[in-house]
Amino acid sequence: MSGRGGGRPGRRPTRCARRSPAWRRRYVDGLRNAPITARRCWTRNVPGGPLVSIRSISARDAWARLARGEARIIDVREPHEQALGVAPDAWRIPPPSLSRHPGLAACRPDAALMLICASGARSRAAAGILLAEGFSDVASVEGGMAAWRAAGLPVESGGLDPAWADRYSRQIKLPEVGIAGQRKLEDARVLIVGAGGLGSPIALYLAAAGVGRIRLVDDDRVERSNLQRQVLHAEARIGMRKVDSALETLCALNPAIAVEPVVGRLDESTIEALLDGVDVAVDGSDNLATRYLLNRGCVRRAVPLVYGAVQGFEGQVGVFHPAADAPEMPCYNCLFPERPGVAPLPNCAEAGVLGVVPGTIGLLQATEVLKLLLGVGASLAGTLLHVDLSTADFRRLAIRADPACEVCQKRAG
Ligand SMILES: [Zn+2]
Repeated sequence: MSGRGGGRPGRRPTRCARRSPAWRRRYVDGLRNAPITARRCWTRNVPGGPLVSIRSISARDAWARLARGEARIIDVREPHEQALGVAPDAWRIPPPSLSRHPGLAACRPDAALMLICASGARSRAAAGILLAEGFSDVASVEGGMAAWRAAGLPVESGGLDPAWADRYSRQIKLPEVGIAGQRKLEDARVLIVGAGGLGSPIALYLAAAGVGRIRLVDDDRVERSNLQRQVLHAEARIGMRKVDSALETLCALNPAIAVEPVVGRLDESTIEALLDGVDVAVDGSDNLATRYLLNRGCVRRAVPLVYGAVQGFEGQVGVFHPAADAPEMPCYNCLFPERPGVAPLPNCAEAGVLGVVPGTIGLLQATEVLKLLLGVGASLAGTLLHVDLSTADFRRLAIRADPACEVCQKRAG
């Protein structure tokens, strides 16, 4: 391969091509006489810039050149894509650092370089950059790693567990998540209060997303009337503890996470232990006493609380994050001050609910949890989102801290 002191392309293999005899028999000898076909395509170094002619090379021909030590291959994908597997001996250089890479800077201008990306578009653009920088023997691998894999060519591990990478590949691709974000989710612990209509979609989607530890608290058993909306459970589990039923469902969905089922209610004697080590708490309860208690505990510990409530076709979602350094942020009690003795609103059993309503609200809550854990997007903190699914109407209401709120006066530092 061409590198510092690598010599002219095609003359002699350098150190990285000197593999074991078995490796040579398997890969090199079979490809020794493979014809090298090259085509040209056009690309622009910069958007709107002049068109530059780029040589394309098929994945098989690129491998043949690589195996013979005739050329260096450079993977120009993002690190999270490279982590899913790369061509053997590939230099991993995402385009922003292409010209600054020390190995590339040490290459002779006539070094044979082959660029590869996911499907061939980014490698063409990167090839244009290298041509503009004075390299003369530059080619783009046609079809990228997709063609490379389809041709059955060897792929080196990118350093990630393949099952882990495959499971989360669709969200790791998002720049807002990436490998670092996925690790954050893996390291997080979320408390979900209630394994019912709201708790079901919340728990299912947080488990699927790879939230590492889900603490789920509920003291109910599964009833047939739950199954119209509580999709964590199943007909065969009627009579089972909801947290045990949820454990079965969540572990079947994602065995890589830890579910901490807690049979019981949230009360003054249990709240501190339940909030211990929690990054975000989610309210999926159906009664006011639990809601106020959870709010007080979250304010004391400065744990963000993602609130949700439903009735009929309507629901509400909010994020309460009343940290000491954000005195303008309200808590749940600022919005709905506790009034002992006032009759609570009827719950789903009394008032009825369309099953998709807690499904929708629960998914909005799960989304807010993921945003908080990843530190991306704009959370609903300071806003109450009111949803009327009978008209598909989503309304945002700005809410502020109440200086007279008794709960907020006990904020954690
Ligand atoms: Zn408050």
